Amino acid sequence: MQRRSFILKSGIIGAAALTAPHLIFAQDEETEYSVYELMGQADIELYGKDINLRKEAYEAFKKMKVAAYSAGIDLKIVSSYRNFRRQEGIWERKYIKYTDNQNLKPLDAIEKIIEYSTIPGTSRHHWGTDIDIIDGYQKTNGDVLVPSKFEEGGPFKELKKWMDENANDFGFHLVYTNDKKRRGFKYEPWHYSYAPISKPMLEQFRGKNIMRLIQEQELLGSEHFTAGFLRSYIVNNILDINPDLL
Ligand SMILES: [Zn+2]
Repeated sequence: MQRRSFILKSGIIGAAALTAPHLIFAQDEETEYSVYELMGQADIELYGKDINLRKEAYEAFKKMKVAAYSAGIDLKIVSSYRNFRRQEGIWERKYIKYTDNQNLKPLDAIEKIIEYSTIPGTSRHHWGTDIDIIDGYQKTNGDVLVPSKFEEGGPFKELKKWMDENANDFGFHLVYTNDKKRRGFKYEPWHYSYAPISKPMLEQFRGKNIMRLIQEQELLGSEHFTAGFLRSYIVNNILDINPDLL
């Protein structure tokens, strides 16, 4: 009797194990992300102390981190998930700095902000898939997210070289590449994205009316967003990225 029930149980487990990978894959393909999730306005489950990524991205990052250790590099996250409010804080701080302290006209201030920072609601950091990284073993002064620090003679040169060779194997891709023909955000050698999740998220985001979604937010200075400005922001800043992520 006991043996019969054991066979029955293991039979069920066996069948489940056979079909599970297919089921998981099918589910991932069909995951629907709400507008709130896509815009950093939903509470999502994040994993890892000082990592804060969606589960699958967190697991891939951990594997990559272990591999980098053996090359003498400590992949350290400076920034990962950021919600809408955080991004809004960054936006407001820069807007005030450029318009009040530096006396720029609103649209000039906005153009300056979007050299490196996104309009709240449109940051890839809202997705729990994107990271800004440095090498935690390197001691350095001042701002760390500066392109020259990732170049020849810079403290993160070895990290950059290692990432160039290995990141894609773990699903991570540079977003804002050094391609001279690329428009939108400037070159960010530190910003990587976990493609298996961020690709479908971008695909779903661009399926929404992004222009209207931005216009619906009441942001500091957003009364200066013209339709032309928003169109070029969407085409250049959101969509002119590493083609691996499209
Ligand atoms: Zn970033």
